[in-house]
Amino acid sequence: MIICKKQRELHDLLEKKKFGQDEIGFVPTMGALHTGHLSLVDAAKKQNKIVICSIFVNPTQFNDPEDFKKYPISLEKDILMFEGAGCDILFIPSVEDIYPNGTNDLAHYDLGFLETVLEGKFRPGHFQGVCLVMERLLEIVLPNNLYLGQKDYQQCIVIKKLIELIGLNGRVEVNICPTLREDDGLAMSSRNIRLLPGDRKKAATISAALRYIKENLKAGDTKQIKNEAKEMLLQRGFRIDYIETADGDTLNLVDKWDGKQKIVALVAAFLNKVRLIDNMVINT
Ligand code: AMP
Repeated sequence: MIICKKQRELHDLLEKKKFGQDEIGFVPTMGALHTGHLSLVDAAKKQNKIVICSIFVNPTQFNDPEDFKKYPISLEKDILMFEGAGCDILFIPSVEDIYPNGTNDLAHYDLGFLETVLEGKFRPGHFQGVCLVMERLLEIVLPNNLYLGQKDYQQCIVIKKLIELIGLNGRVEVNICPTLREDDGLAMSSRNIRLLPGDRKKAATISAALRYIKENLKAGDTKQIKNEAKEMLLQRGFRIDYIETADGDTLNLVDKWDGKQKIVALVAAFLNKVRLIDNMVINT
């Protein structure tokens, strides 16, 4: 595995090799790797000649400075994990490389409704930061295939919209990979290691609540089932940002379901200071 710490190095390397169509798969991450991340590398390896991964803890997407400060970092372990998974090139840029003109007065993306709902509503500015880093990474790596996790459902939709906005539609294909879970159902996440020991057990209630919605939702009003799922979380001591059902493509909230529309149940909730998100698609 080749490690590049500068945009220039990566650029020169890619120039030299002259990769063609359908040859570069890209897995962007913020590090603190777990098996979920590696499943994206696996998917990328199956479909591309070379796999490029990146580690960059993007300051502009943290709406909460505390969260940024406490974001787990395990670079040496991450390098070994990426190498073991078969990553060919690991890009670890600096903030200066990604934001050569600093992090103020940056571009603004018209994400419309997506910024007003769910994560967009509860984490103001978050998706602007996601778009800033993704546009820059896509410009540098110019992959044919991009690999993202369903775990961050709204992020996948935002990035697809970004790709349209910056004119890369048809040039970069988005591949969404299933959420990997721990044995008790908790979605793997870099933030899980910040859970207090007593909270780690409780955390699995998030996926249990989503499964409850998935298994019990019937055509008609979605409110009662959402309230029951909410109650499951409240009883375990969660502080809930949202628990919602939404259209699987647009994320328009769905209060009345016709039983056919593809919908997704999404939740964001805190256990003490750790914010967890998860989702499940209902009718597939
Ligand atoms: P992050 O390092 O949290 O920015 O995540 C990097 C990529 O890994 C994103 O596309 C995430 O959606 C994806 N990812 C995170 N957790 C999981 C998981 N449990 N299963 C599959 N993919 C995941």
